[in-house]
Amino acid sequence: QHIHAPDDLTRLLRDIHEQAMTINTGKVADYIPALAAVDPEQCALTVATLDGETFTFGDTQTQFSIQSISKIFGLILAMERLGDELWERVKMEPSGQAFNSIVQLEWEKGIPRNPMINAGAILVSDVLVSHYSASKNAVLSFVRSLCGNEEVYADHEVHESEKDHGHRNAALAHLMKSFGNIDSDVDELLDHYFWQCALSMSCENLARSFTFLANDGVCPFSKKEIMSKRDSQRINALLSTSGMYDQSGEFAFTVGVPAKSGVGGGIVAIVPDFGVISAWSPRLNEFGNSARGMFMVREVANKLGLSVY
Ligand code: GLU
Repeated sequence: QHIHAPDDLTRLLRDIHEQAMTINTGKVADYIPALAAVDPEQCALTVATLDGETFTFGDTQTQFSIQSISKIFGLILAMERLGDELWERVKMEPSGQAFNSIVQLEWEKGIPRNPMINAGAILVSDVLVSHYSASKNAVLSFVRSLCGNEEVYADHEVHESEKDHGHRNAALAHLMKSFGNIDSDVDELLDHYFWQCALSMSCENLARSFTFLANDGVCPFSKKEIMSKRDSQRINALLSTSGMYDQSGEFAFTVGVPAKSGVGGGIVAIVPDFGVISAWSPRLNEFGNSARGMFMVREVANKLGLSVY
């Protein structure tokens, strides 16, 4: 039984997008030049429903760096290849530490706290590189098939600058290798990880690509089973506890749906039985979540009463 969009959804979303445009707090990610150069005023809001309707406002066709949101795509393919064995190599606990924390990984003997922090996604990249002959192609064609079009690409400049500035991620990979939790060549898996962070998508494609997570693992457009109901529930559980950096608790408290954000300013929020809310605007709050994006997702969820709790 789907939750249907209310008749006045277009007006509601337009208002929310307009209000978001007046928020000027936060700071664009500047750890690499390619992200620092993005126009901070851009702002997009999309709602894609399981009924097949798409509501879009603002810069919804502009491709942007999805960064950490890509961790979900990688995880899905790794779960498919390794099955439950994956959970012996990465935990499913919130970290309570920064997304790129090194100390925690040492305490926990090279087992990352969850797949949504960098260490966990780097571990996932190891699985992909070890189990696919062409791991980047596998991810790219997977994401394109989820969107139903070929628009997704990896931004070469972002990929290269991630590599140039990725010393902390390299440290995480080497530390896990020293504990015996990494199989493949560190340079190769890091290249995959940085490439994956550099994936570029529009707000609209982002919303479309994740609708299956709101639909028990089945793509509502193609009717294809992307993953089992059990596994899609598990992804949503991970997103609920670990998807929004150190603001995940507050997000669950004030918004109440599984979500993931990235330092490019994108946020996807999964609303089971309804659809996906995606938002993008580059200026980030102190937790690394898009300031305007947080406002828009919270408003939509609150106004429509979408909290799953
Ligand atoms: N490329 C970033 C990193 O690995 C991803 C950060 C993010 O979006 O959380 O540091």
